[in-house]
Amino acid sequence: MTQINRERLRQYLLDLVQIDSHSREEGLVAARIRADLEALGIEVSVDGAGEAVGGDTGNVIARINGTVPDAPAIFLAAHMDTVVPGKGVKPVIDGDIIRTDGTTVLGGDDKSGCAIIVECLRTLKENSIPHSNIDAVFTICEEVGLLGAKHLDMASLRSKYGLVLDSDDVGYLFTRAPSADHMEYTIYGLEAHAGVCPENGISAIQVAAEAISAMKLGRIDFETTANIGVVQGGAATNIVPNQVVLKAEARSHDSAKLDAQTEHMRKALHDAAARHTVVVDGVSVTARVEENITREYHSMNVADDSTIVQLVMQAATNLNQQVQTLATGGGCDANVFNRRGLEVANLGTGMQAIHTVKEWLDVKDMYRSAEVVLEILRLNANLTR
Ligand SMILES: [Zn+2]
Repeated sequence: MTQINRERLRQYLLDLVQIDSHSREEGLVAARIRADLEALGIEVSVDGAGEAVGGDTGNVIARINGTVPDAPAIFLAAHMDTVVPGKGVKPVIDGDIIRTDGTTVLGGDDKSGCAIIVECLRTLKENSIPHSNIDAVFTICEEVGLLGAKHLDMASLRSKYGLVLDSDDVGYLFTRAPSADHMEYTIYGLEAHAGVCPENGISAIQVAAEAISAMKLGRIDFETTANIGVVQGGAATNIVPNQVVLKAEARSHDSAKLDAQTEHMRKALHDAAARHTVVVDGVSVTARVEENITREYHSMNVADDSTIVQLVMQAATNLNQQVQTLATGGGCDANVFNRRGLEVANLGTGMQAIHTVKEWLDVKDMYRSAEVVLEILRLNANLTR
C-alpha cells in the first residue's frame, strides 16, 4: 500500500513552524501553503475572513477535484495561526522528537495539522490514488476565538463531513465538545477618601468579593465548568475603589446547564451590587454592574455511527491502529463547523504540551495521523453519494 512520504512530511512541518504566524499575521504561511498546493495543480482561493477580523490574510481554501465522480466530497481543516510566544521558532531536533529552544511555542498546534493535509494531497497526486472531491481549509485566528472558521465562506465548500486535525493524541477522535460563554463584568461603586469618609463610598472590590464568594465555580458537574480568570481594579490604598473588571467563562456539554451557570454568576453580581447603597449629599447611589456576555462557541456532538466517525474507525482498523472517540473540555474550529452545518470530528496529530514553550511533537505520531487521513481519503473514494 502506498504510504505518505515521511521525510517530506517531517521537513514540511519544520518549514512551516519557522514561518511566524501569530493570529491575524498568518499571511506568510498562507502564501506558502497556497503556492505549494498550486504547484500540485490545485485550485486555491483566499476568502474575505482576513478583512472581517483585521488580519493580513483570509482562510486558504483548496478545492481538489475528485477522480471518482460518484464519491461524496470530504472536508479537511487545520489552523495556520499559533499562540504567543510564537515568533522566531527555532526547532530543536532530537531523534524523532521535535521541540523548541524553550523561548517560544513550537506551533505544532496546528502546523502539524496543516502539514499532514498538504502531505496527503501530495501523496494522492503523486501516486494517482483515486479520490473524491476534497475541500481542504487552512484557517486563520483559531486561537483568538475561532474567528477564521466563523467567517469561512461556506458557499465555496462541496463537502458535508470531514475532519479537523487539531488535537494532541493520535489515538483519540474528539467528537463531543462543550459550549462556552465568555463574560466580562464591570462593577461600578463610588469613589471616596478611604480615611476621611469611607462611608461616602462603595467599594467595587467588596461588591466583587461578595459576589464571587456566592458563586459556584470550578467543576460544577461532570460536564460543566466555570472560572473567573481575571480581576482588575483599584488605584490606591487610600481610595475606596469605584471600579472592578471581572473576566470569566463557563462551559458545558449541555447548553441548558450552561445557561443556568452563566445566569447564576450574573445574578450573584447583580444581587451583591443591589445590597450596596449610600446617600451622599441627599443623592442615593447604588452599585451597579455592566455586562458583556457572549456565547463563544456552541457544543458539538458527532454520533458514533456518522459517516466521518465510521471512516476514521475503518481506517484505523485497516492500519492496525487504535482510535477511540472522546469528549473534550475545549473548543476548536470543529465546534464552529458543526454549528455551521458540517459534520466534523477532531483527530490528533501528535502535538504535545501545546500552548507552552515546552511544546513538542514525536514525528512518529504525526506519521500515524497522516496515514489514517490518507486511508480515510482512500476509503471515502469507495462511498457513493
Ligand atoms: Zn489548535
